[in-house]
Amino acid sequence: MANRYYPKDGDLSVLADSTVGVLGYGNQGRSQALNLADSGLSVVVGNRGDDYRKRAEEDGLPAFDIPTAVEKSDVLLVILPDEVQPTVYSEVIEPRLKEGGTLCFAHGYNVFYDYLKPRPDMDVVLVAPKMIGPAVRTWYVDHKHFPTVVGVDQDASGSAKDKMLALALGMGGMGPAFESTFEEETITDLFGEQVGGGAGLVGTIRAFQALVEAGYDPEVVQLELYGSGELVEVMRLHQTEGMINQLNNHSPTSGYGQLLRASQMIEDQSGLEGARKVVEELRDGTFAKRWSKVQQDDYAEMEKLRKRFAADPLFDAERTIRELLKTDIVHEDNQHIERTEAG
Ligand code: NDP
Repeated sequence: MANRYYPKDGDLSVLADSTVGVLGYGNQGRSQALNLADSGLSVVVGNRGDDYRKRAEEDGLPAFDIPTAVEKSDVLLVILPDEVQPTVYSEVIEPRLKEGGTLCFAHGYNVFYDYLKPRPDMDVVLVAPKMIGPAVRTWYVDHKHFPTVVGVDQDASGSAKDKMLALALGMGGMGPAFESTFEEETITDLFGEQVGGGAGLVGTIRAFQALVEAGYDPEVVQLELYGSGELVEVMRLHQTEGMINQLNNHSPTSGYGQLLRASQMIEDQSGLEGARKVVEELRDGTFAKRWSKVQQDDYAEMEKLRKRFAADPLFDAERTIRELLKTDIVHEDNQHIERTEAG
Protein backbone atom coordinates (compact mmCIF):
# COMPACT_ATOMS: atom_id res chain seq x y z
CA MET A 1 0.00 0.00 0.00
CA ALA A 2 1.19 3.50 -0.86
CA ASN A 3 2.72 5.64 1.90
CA ARG A 4 0.21 8.26 2.93
CA TYR A 5 1.17 11.67 4.33
CA TYR A 6 -0.90 13.91 6.58
CA PRO A 7 -0.36 17.55 7.65
CA LYS A 8 1.88 16.47 10.54
CA ASP A 9 4.30 14.93 8.01
CA GLY A 10 5.09 18.20 6.23
CA ASP A 11 7.34 21.05 7.36
CA LEU A 12 6.84 24.46 5.74
CA SER A 13 10.12 25.76 7.16
CA VAL A 14 11.92 23.71 4.49
CA LEU A 15 10.80 26.44 2.05
CA ALA A 16 11.18 29.41 4.42
CA ASP A 17 14.09 30.91 2.45
CA SER A 18 12.72 30.02 -0.99
CA THR A 19 10.74 32.04 -3.49
CA VAL A 20 8.02 29.84 -4.92
CA GLY A 21 7.10 30.74 -8.51
CA VAL A 22 3.74 29.61 -9.87
CA LEU A 23 3.70 29.62 -13.68
CA GLY A 24 0.15 29.85 -14.97
CA TYR A 25 -2.77 31.49 -13.18
CA GLY A 26 -5.58 29.32 -14.56
CA ASN A 27 -7.79 26.72 -12.85
CA GLN A 28 -5.08 25.13 -10.74
CA GLY A 29 -2.46 27.89 -10.76
CA ARG A 30 -4.62 30.52 -9.09
CA SER A 31 -5.83 28.22 -6.32
CA GLN A 32 -2.40 26.76 -5.63
CA ALA A 33 -0.71 30.19 -5.62
CA LEU A 34 -3.25 31.69 -3.21
CA ASN A 35 -3.10 28.69 -0.88
CA LEU A 36 0.71 28.67 -0.78
CA ALA A 37 0.79 32.42 -0.12
CA ASP A 38 -1.83 32.14 2.65
CA SER A 39 0.30 29.38 4.19
CA GLY A 40 3.05 31.98 4.60
CA LEU A 41 5.32 31.11 1.67
CA SER A 42 6.87 33.76 -0.53
CA VAL A 43 4.96 33.35 -3.80
CA VAL A 44 5.39 35.04 -7.18
CA VAL A 45 3.18 34.39 -10.21
CA GLY A 46 4.38 34.13 -13.80
CA ASN A 47 1.86 34.64 -16.60
CA ARG A 48 1.57 36.31 -19.96
CA GLY A 49 0.45 39.94 -19.71
CA ASP A 50 -3.30 39.42 -19.98
CA ASP A 51 -6.38 39.21 -17.78
CA TYR A 52 -4.97 36.22 -15.87
CA ARG A 53 -1.91 38.23 -14.78
CA LYS A 54 -4.17 41.17 -13.88
CA ARG A 55 -6.23 38.81 -11.75
CA ALA A 56 -3.12 37.71 -9.85
CA GLU A 57 -2.27 41.36 -9.17
CA GLU A 58 -5.83 42.04 -8.03
CA ASP A 59 -5.53 39.01 -5.71
CA GLY A 60 -2.54 40.75 -4.12
CA LEU A 61 0.21 38.52 -5.49
CA PRO A 62 3.41 39.81 -7.14
CA ALA A 63 2.93 38.92 -10.81
CA PHE A 64 5.47 39.04 -13.64
CA ASP A 65 5.98 37.72 -17.12
CA ILE A 66 7.13 34.09 -17.21
CA PRO A 67 10.88 34.75 -17.78
CA THR A 68 11.05 37.19 -14.83
CA ALA A 69 9.11 34.85 -12.52
CA VAL A 70 11.47 31.98 -13.39
CA GLU A 71 14.55 34.13 -12.64
CA LYS A 72 13.15 35.09 -9.23
CA SER A 73 12.18 31.55 -8.17
CA ASP A 74 13.98 28.81 -6.27
CA VAL A 75 11.00 26.47 -6.51
CA LEU A 76 8.92 26.54 -9.67
CA LEU A 77 5.41 25.11 -10.06
CA VAL A 78 4.72 24.51 -13.76
CA ILE A 79 0.92 24.84 -13.87
CA LEU A 80 0.58 25.56 -17.57
CA PRO A 81 -1.57 23.41 -19.90
CA ASP A 82 0.19 20.09 -20.54
CA GLU A 83 0.15 20.73 -24.31
CA VAL A 84 2.32 23.88 -24.04
CA GLN A 85 4.69 22.84 -21.23
CA PRO A 86 7.44 21.21 -23.38
CA THR A 87 7.91 24.26 -25.63
CA VAL A 88 7.66 26.84 -22.85
CA TYR A 89 10.04 24.75 -20.74
CA SER A 90 12.77 24.39 -23.36
CA GLU A 91 12.50 27.91 -24.80
CA VAL A 92 11.70 30.07 -21.77
CA ILE A 93 12.07 28.21 -18.48
CA GLU A 94 15.19 26.06 -18.64
CA PRO A 95 17.64 28.77 -19.79
CA ARG A 96 16.63 30.85 -16.74
CA LEU A 97 16.36 28.19 -14.03
CA LYS A 98 18.50 28.73 -10.96
CA GLU A 99 21.14 26.06 -10.42
CA GLY A 100 19.90 23.37 -8.02
CA GLY A 101 16.31 24.54 -7.87
CA THR A 102 13.08 22.56 -7.70
CA LEU A 103 10.50 21.90 -10.40
CA CYS A 104 7.03 20.82 -9.33
CA PHE A 105 4.29 19.54 -11.66
CA ALA A 106 0.55 19.05 -11.12
CA HIS A 107 0.40 16.13 -13.56
CA GLY A 108 3.12 13.66 -14.56
CA TYR A 109 2.34 13.58 -18.31
CA ASN A 110 5.25 15.45 -19.89
CA VAL A 111 7.96 14.12 -17.61
CA PHE A 112 6.74 10.51 -17.82
CA TYR A 113 6.47 10.56 -21.62
CA ASP A 114 9.85 12.37 -21.92
CA TYR A 115 8.36 15.37 -23.71
CA LEU A 116 10.07 17.50 -21.07
CA LYS A 117 13.51 16.56 -19.77
CA PRO A 118 14.45 18.50 -16.63
CA ARG A 119 18.09 19.44 -16.11
CA PRO A 120 19.97 16.93 -13.94
CA ASP A 121 20.79 19.53 -11.25
CA MET A 122 17.07 20.03 -10.48
CA ASP A 123 14.85 18.34 -7.94
CA VAL A 124 11.72 17.22 -9.81
CA VAL A 125 8.57 16.52 -7.84
CA LEU A 126 4.88 15.95 -8.42
CA VAL A 127 2.00 17.30 -6.35
CA ALA A 128 -1.13 16.35 -8.31
CA PRO A 129 -4.38 17.51 -6.71
CA LYS A 130 -7.17 14.98 -7.12
CA MET A 131 -9.49 17.94 -7.11
CA ILE A 132 -10.66 20.47 -9.69
CA GLY A 133 -8.96 23.87 -9.56
CA PRO A 134 -11.62 26.06 -7.91
CA ALA A 135 -12.21 23.42 -5.19
CA VAL A 136 -8.47 23.43 -4.38
CA ARG A 137 -9.11 26.95 -3.12
CA THR A 138 -12.52 26.45 -1.47
CA TRP A 139 -11.34 23.40 0.49
CA TYR A 140 -8.34 25.38 1.74
CA VAL A 141 -10.53 28.31 2.76
CA ASP A 142 -12.79 25.82 4.60
CA HIS A 143 -9.69 24.48 6.47
CA LYS A 144 -9.94 21.06 4.81
CA HIS A 145 -7.09 19.19 3.12
CA PHE A 146 -7.93 17.63 -0.27
CA PRO A 147 -6.25 14.41 -1.51
CA THR A 148 -3.19 14.52 -3.75
CA VAL A 149 -0.86 12.06 -5.46
CA VAL A 150 2.79 12.98 -4.89
CA GLY A 151 6.12 11.68 -6.11
CA VAL A 152 9.79 12.41 -6.66
CA ASP A 153 11.31 11.91 -10.10
CA GLN A 154 14.74 13.48 -9.51
CA ASP A 155 16.40 14.05 -6.18
CA ALA A 156 19.49 16.12 -6.96
CA SER A 157 19.64 17.86 -3.57
CA GLY A 158 18.83 14.90 -1.34
CA SER A 159 15.85 16.79 0.09
CA ALA A 160 13.37 16.64 -2.82
CA LYS A 161 10.87 14.67 -0.75
CA ASP A 162 10.88 17.23 2.08
CA LYS A 163 10.22 20.01 -0.45
CA MET A 164 7.44 17.99 -2.09
CA LEU A 165 5.73 17.44 1.27
CA ALA A 166 6.13 21.13 2.18
CA LEU A 167 4.46 22.12 -1.11
CA ALA A 168 1.63 19.62 -0.56
CA LEU A 169 1.16 20.97 2.97
CA GLY A 170 1.26 24.60 1.85
CA MET A 171 -1.37 24.11 -0.85
CA GLY A 172 -3.67 22.16 1.49
CA GLY A 173 -3.16 18.85 -0.29
CA MET A 174 -2.51 16.43 2.55
CA GLY A 175 -5.92 14.92 2.86
CA PRO A 176 -3.92 12.62 2.52
CA ALA A 177 -1.02 12.80 0.04
CA PHE A 178 -0.52 9.35 -1.53
CA GLU A 179 3.10 8.59 -2.42
CA SER A 180 3.30 7.54 -6.05
CA THR A 181 5.36 8.03 -9.20
CA PHE A 182 5.06 10.19 -12.31
CA GLU A 183 4.22 7.01 -14.25
CA GLU A 184 1.49 5.79 -11.91
CA GLU A 185 -0.16 9.20 -11.61
CA THR A 186 -0.13 9.69 -15.40
CA ILE A 187 -1.49 6.26 -16.33
CA THR A 188 -4.21 6.18 -13.66
CA ASP A 189 -5.29 9.77 -14.31
CA LEU A 190 -5.57 9.25 -18.09
CA PHE A 191 -7.21 5.86 -17.65
CA GLY A 192 -9.83 7.31 -15.29
CA GLU A 193 -10.69 10.05 -17.77
CA GLN A 194 -10.67 7.85 -20.85
CA VAL A 195 -12.40 4.73 -19.58
CA GLY A 196 -14.63 6.40 -16.97
CA GLY A 197 -15.67 9.25 -19.26
CA GLY A 198 -15.64 7.24 -22.50
CA ALA A 199 -17.66 4.33 -21.08
CA GLY A 200 -20.12 6.75 -19.47
CA LEU A 201 -20.73 8.46 -22.81
CA VAL A 202 -21.16 5.22 -24.77
CA GLY A 203 -23.29 3.55 -22.06
CA THR A 204 -25.63 6.54 -22.01
CA ILE A 205 -25.90 6.73 -25.81
CA ARG A 206 -26.67 2.99 -26.02
CA ALA A 207 -29.23 3.14 -23.22
CA PHE A 208 -30.92 6.11 -24.90
CA GLN A 209 -30.99 4.29 -28.26
CA ALA A 210 -32.49 1.10 -26.81
CA LEU A 211 -35.28 2.91 -24.96
CA VAL A 212 -36.15 5.31 -27.78
CA GLU A 213 -36.17 2.43 -30.31
CA ALA A 214 -38.65 0.70 -27.99
CA GLY A 215 -40.96 3.69 -28.40
CA TYR A 216 -40.32 5.73 -25.24
CA ASP A 217 -40.21 9.53 -25.22
CA PRO A 218 -36.64 10.84 -25.79
CA GLU A 219 -37.04 13.59 -23.19
CA VAL A 220 -38.38 11.28 -20.50
CA VAL A 221 -35.50 8.90 -21.28
CA GLN A 222 -32.85 11.64 -21.10
CA LEU A 223 -34.35 12.93 -17.85
CA GLU A 224 -34.08 9.44 -16.39
CA LEU A 225 -30.54 8.76 -17.62
CA TYR A 226 -28.86 11.93 -16.32
CA GLY A 227 -30.94 15.02 -17.07
CA SER A 228 -32.63 15.28 -13.68
CA GLY A 229 -29.41 15.49 -11.68
CA GLU A 230 -30.27 12.36 -9.67
CA LEU A 231 -27.14 10.69 -11.05
CA VAL A 232 -24.96 13.43 -9.53
CA GLU A 233 -26.45 12.67 -6.12
CA VAL A 234 -25.87 8.93 -6.60
CA MET A 235 -22.23 9.56 -7.57
CA ARG A 236 -21.77 11.60 -4.41
CA LEU A 237 -23.10 8.61 -2.43
CA HIS A 238 -20.64 6.31 -4.25
CA GLN A 239 -17.87 8.42 -2.78
CA THR A 240 -19.26 8.98 0.72
CA GLU A 241 -21.00 5.62 1.42
CA GLY A 242 -19.38 3.20 -1.06
CA MET A 243 -20.82 1.82 -4.32
CA ILE A 244 -22.55 -1.19 -2.75
CA ASN A 245 -23.57 0.35 0.58
CA GLN A 246 -25.22 3.28 -1.14
CA LEU A 247 -27.72 0.86 -2.69
CA ASN A 248 -29.53 1.08 0.68
CA ASN A 249 -30.69 4.53 -0.45
CA HIS A 250 -32.51 2.99 -3.42
CA SER A 251 -35.66 0.87 -3.40
CA PRO A 252 -35.14 -2.92 -3.10
CA THR A 253 -36.37 -3.27 -6.71
CA SER A 254 -33.73 -0.78 -7.86
CA GLY A 255 -30.97 -2.35 -5.76
CA TYR A 256 -31.76 -5.88 -6.98
CA GLY A 257 -32.02 -4.69 -10.60
CA GLN A 258 -28.64 -2.96 -10.45
CA LEU A 259 -26.91 -5.98 -8.93
CA LEU A 260 -28.58 -8.41 -11.35
CA ARG A 261 -27.60 -6.40 -14.46
CA ALA A 262 -24.07 -5.86 -13.13
CA SER A 263 -23.67 -9.60 -12.54
CA GLN A 264 -24.86 -10.31 -16.09
CA MET A 265 -22.63 -7.66 -17.68
CA ILE A 266 -19.53 -8.71 -15.74
CA GLU A 267 -19.73 -12.13 -17.39
CA ASP A 268 -18.88 -10.44 -20.68
CA GLN A 269 -15.07 -10.25 -20.61
CA SER A 270 -14.82 -7.92 -23.62
CA GLY A 271 -15.07 -4.83 -21.38
CA LEU A 272 -12.10 -6.02 -19.32
CA GLU A 273 -10.13 -6.78 -22.47
CA GLY A 274 -10.88 -3.26 -23.71
CA ALA A 275 -9.72 -1.74 -20.41
CA ARG A 276 -6.47 -3.75 -20.55
CA LYS A 277 -5.85 -2.49 -24.07
CA VAL A 278 -6.26 1.10 -22.87
CA VAL A 279 -3.69 0.50 -20.08
CA GLU A 280 -1.25 -0.92 -22.66
CA GLU A 281 -1.72 2.01 -25.06
CA LEU A 282 -1.14 4.46 -22.20
CA ARG A 283 1.98 2.65 -20.99
CA ASP A 284 3.64 2.16 -24.36
CA GLY A 285 2.99 5.77 -25.44
CA THR A 286 0.54 4.96 -28.27
CA PHE A 287 -2.08 7.37 -26.89
CA ALA A 288 0.47 10.12 -26.17
CA LYS A 289 1.89 9.92 -29.72
CA ARG A 290 -1.59 10.02 -31.22
CA TRP A 291 -2.53 13.04 -29.05
CA SER A 292 0.66 14.88 -30.11
CA LYS A 293 -0.23 14.24 -33.75
CA VAL A 294 -3.78 15.56 -33.17
CA GLN A 295 -2.27 18.77 -31.75
CA GLN A 296 0.09 19.11 -34.74
CA ASP A 297 -2.90 18.67 -37.07
CA ASP A 298 -4.69 21.56 -35.40
CA TYR A 299 -7.06 19.28 -33.44
CA ALA A 300 -8.82 18.04 -36.64
CA GLU A 301 -9.46 14.52 -35.30
CA MET A 302 -10.75 15.88 -31.98
CA GLU A 303 -13.20 18.14 -33.82
CA LYS A 304 -14.34 15.20 -35.96
CA LEU A 305 -14.97 13.06 -32.87
CA ARG A 306 -16.79 15.88 -31.11
CA LYS A 307 -19.06 16.35 -34.16
CA ARG A 308 -19.71 12.62 -34.43
CA PHE A 309 -21.04 12.40 -30.88
CA ALA A 310 -22.72 15.81 -30.79
CA ALA A 311 -24.93 14.68 -33.70
CA ASP A 312 -26.51 11.89 -31.62
CA PRO A 313 -30.27 12.38 -31.02
CA LEU A 314 -29.60 12.09 -27.27
CA PHE A 315 -28.33 15.66 -27.31
CA ASP A 316 -31.51 17.07 -28.84
CA ALA A 317 -33.38 15.68 -25.84
CA GLU A 318 -30.58 16.97 -23.58
CA ARG A 319 -31.00 20.52 -24.90
CA THR A 320 -34.74 20.44 -24.25
CA ILE A 321 -34.40 19.09 -20.72
CA ARG A 322 -31.61 21.54 -19.84
CA GLU A 323 -33.81 24.37 -21.04
CA LEU A 324 -36.84 23.09 -19.11
CA LEU A 325 -34.92 22.55 -15.87
CA LYS A 326 -33.70 26.13 -15.86
CA THR A 327 -37.10 26.80 -14.33
CA ASP A 328 -36.52 26.96 -10.61
CA ILE A 329 -39.41 25.38 -8.72
CA VAL A 330 -39.14 26.24 -5.04
CA HIS A 331 -40.95 24.16 -2.46
CA GLU A 332 -42.04 26.29 0.52
CA ASP A 333 -44.65 25.38 3.16
CA ASN A 334 -46.10 22.81 0.81
CA GLN A 335 -46.74 25.53 -1.75
CA HIS A 336 -45.11 25.16 -5.15
CA ILE A 337 -43.90 28.53 -6.30
CA GLU A 338 -42.67 28.55 -9.84
CA ARG A 339 -40.02 31.05 -10.83
CA THR A 340 -38.85 31.30 -14.38
CA GLU A 341 -35.59 32.95 -15.40
CA ALA A 342 -37.60 35.95 -16.50
CA GLY A 343 -38.65 36.42 -12.87
P1 NDP B 1 -5.63 26.26 -17.39
O1 NDP B 1 -5.92 26.13 -18.83
O2 NDP B 1 -6.74 26.58 -16.47
O3 NDP B 1 -4.52 27.40 -17.11
C1 NDP B 1 -3.54 27.59 -17.99
C2 NDP B 1 -2.60 28.75 -17.57
O4 NDP B 1 -1.48 28.69 -18.44
C3 NDP B 1 -3.24 30.10 -17.72
O5 NDP B 1 -2.71 30.96 -16.75
C4 NDP B 1 -2.78 30.52 -19.13
O6 NDP B 1 -2.62 31.91 -19.17
C5 NDP B 1 -1.40 29.88 -19.24
N1 NDP B 1 -1.06 29.54 -20.63
C6 NDP B 1 -1.84 28.90 -21.55
N2 NDP B 1 -1.17 28.76 -22.71
C7 NDP B 1 0.03 29.32 -22.53
C8 NDP B 1 1.19 29.48 -23.37
N3 NDP B 1 1.20 29.03 -24.62
N4 NDP B 1 2.26 30.10 -22.86
C9 NDP B 1 2.25 30.57 -21.59
N5 NDP B 1 1.21 30.44 -20.74
C10 NDP B 1 0.11 29.82 -21.20
O7 NDP B 1 -4.88 24.91 -16.96
P2 NDP B 1 -5.13 24.02 -15.65
O8 NDP B 1 -4.91 24.86 -14.45
O9 NDP B 1 -6.41 23.27 -15.78
O10 NDP B 1 -3.97 22.93 -15.80
C11 NDP B 1 -2.64 23.23 -15.49
C12 NDP B 1 -1.94 21.98 -14.99
O11 NDP B 1 -2.65 21.43 -13.88
C13 NDP B 1 -1.85 20.85 -16.03
O12 NDP B 1 -0.63 20.19 -15.86
C14 NDP B 1 -3.01 19.92 -15.62
O13 NDP B 1 -2.84 18.58 -16.03
C15 NDP B 1 -2.90 20.05 -14.10
N6 NDP B 1 -4.10 19.64 -13.36
C16 NDP B 1 -5.30 20.22 -13.65
C17 NDP B 1 -6.44 19.86 -12.92
C18 NDP B 1 -7.75 20.57 -13.15
O14 NDP B 1 -8.69 20.30 -12.40
N7 NDP B 1 -7.89 21.46 -14.13
C19 NDP B 1 -6.39 18.83 -11.87
C20 NDP B 1 -5.05 18.36 -11.58
C21 NDP B 1 -3.97 18.74 -12.33
P3 NDP B 1 -2.92 32.82 -20.44
O15 NDP B 1 -3.70 32.00 -21.43
O16 NDP B 1 -3.65 33.97 -19.89
O17 NDP B 1 -1.61 33.20 -20.94
